[in-house]
Amino acid sequence: MASSPPFPSRLLYYDGKPRPASSGKTFQTVNPADATPLADVHIASHSDIDAAIASADRAFASWSQTPPIVRARILQRAAAILRERNDDIARVETLDSGKAYSETSVVDVVTGADVLEYYANLVGGGGLNGETTQLREDAWVYTKKAPLGVCVGIGAWNYPIQIALWKSAPCLAAGNTMVYKPSEFTPLHAQTLAEIYTEAGLPDGVFNVVNGAGDVGAYLTSHPLVAKVSFTGQVATGMKVAGSAAGNMKYVTMELGGKSPLLILPDAELENAVDGAMMANFYSTGQVCTNGTRVFVPASMRPAFEKRLVEKMQYVRPGSLFDPATNFGPLSSKIHLDKVTSYIRHGLEVDKAKLLYGGLGKPNVPKDLENGYWVQPTIFTDCTDDMRIVKEEIFGPVMSILYYQTIEEAVHRANNTELGLAAGVFTRDINLAHRIIDQLQAGITWVNSWGESPAEMPVGGWKKSGVGVENGRKGIEAWVRNKSTLVDMNGAVATVFAKL
Ligand code: NAD
Repeated sequence: MASSPPFPSRLLYYDGKPRPASSGKTFQTVNPADATPLADVHIASHSDIDAAIASADRAFASWSQTPPIVRARILQRAAAILRERNDDIARVETLDSGKAYSETSVVDVVTGADVLEYYANLVGGGGLNGETTQLREDAWVYTKKAPLGVCVGIGAWNYPIQIALWKSAPCLAAGNTMVYKPSEFTPLHAQTLAEIYTEAGLPDGVFNVVNGAGDVGAYLTSHPLVAKVSFTGQVATGMKVAGSAAGNMKYVTMELGGKSPLLILPDAELENAVDGAMMANFYSTGQVCTNGTRVFVPASMRPAFEKRLVEKMQYVRPGSLFDPATNFGPLSSKIHLDKVTSYIRHGLEVDKAKLLYGGLGKPNVPKDLENGYWVQPTIFTDCTDDMRIVKEEIFGPVMSILYYQTIEEAVHRANNTELGLAAGVFTRDINLAHRIIDQLQAGITWVNSWGESPAEMPVGGWKKSGVGVENGRKGIEAWVRNKSTLVDMNGAVATVFAKL
């Protein structure tokens, strides 16, 4: 007989309490390291979603009128609870997502709590103030940043609790309420986060959770009571979501996929460039939206770059996810394993790319993990721009090295894509770095670094990689709308309808 999963069932959460789904339907979330079930998750029916949205709608009236400093105090308390429980939450994130604990324990909850604290401090410190303009002695204009209403957050599976916090923090700080749907592949964090918000003093209905797959997401995005949708996921899904949201003139933020270029210039420090390329491809087993998967290297640097890169690949260490030495986990799901594997096969068999490292087959992992969704960190070299592995987002640990002759050529090829999420340059010439960054068509860029995304830094894609930004001072603007008021103290309306 099958044993029951180790975690209690995950429920929906609205009106300040966990609630079973009226559908009676559940799905199972599994540990991608060994393919064992973790928990049953309740699937929201349409009437559950309506109830969650109604709860958010009721809560909006008073939450939007709560003074920003009071809202800030509650969110700061939630950030403190998250930090206190960092290790427990990170452990669950590791089991649910397959990311090594060496990573989740220092990144996922930490960077989520940072953003919560950042926006609490921003609004508590007057960050939502409008502007005043004196027009004449007796007239002025003032503006107000008003919250939008009920907002929907839809998450991807790669940074589960971080995504939930990057969306809910500015949303709630600005006075909105939220219904959040986690990815069906990594739903475990959502109820925990809702409970922490309630414990911190968030009024009932301000943050709500519904679980389910794309159909639940689609119902949310088309709901007439929803004012805004903030979505993180694939470009193809983002297009559907934006199309559905457009129907009711909803506001949208779209954080989508990329195929980002990393440019190593001829004068770059070799060790730093190799480290950068590895971070940009193998961190989180390559499941990072901003991955620099197209690595442009000067042809003259080829022997030294390839030699050092292959030498350093021994430091990518798959293994038991709670071993502090492990820094490379499985892929997040069986579906994703099949997708990444098919790209590697396509690279070998159709693109005929030259394999420098890895390839098909599983890495060496302990026996108890053999059923997990493991893939080898893989490097193709001598790639050309027309290869499918170079053009499409794989979202796994697959690096493509592209050689170039001139910097102008590299910049041109780097920009030759419909995507524009991230880009970066490695060079010792800082003036040149700024010139190149200025020419790269991407919303998130790095110089001699890759991947860091602090609360203070607005991030969002260009082209098909997205609409709008998250984080930083700019990020709060996505959760408010403007109201302008002209005040005339003269008491006389300027009119053309006067007696001549
Ligand atoms: P996905 O598009 O398959 O799913 C994302 C979410 O959308 C899930 O919660 C899913 O249930 C929901 N969904 C699916 N169909 C829907 C529909 N019709 N209407 C509404 N919701 C629907 O993406 P994924 O595979 O979970 O995530 C990986 C992708 O996310 C990659 O492309 C990655 O680059 C991207 N990503 C982007 C960022 C960023 O900040 N730009 C961050 C993380 C991940």
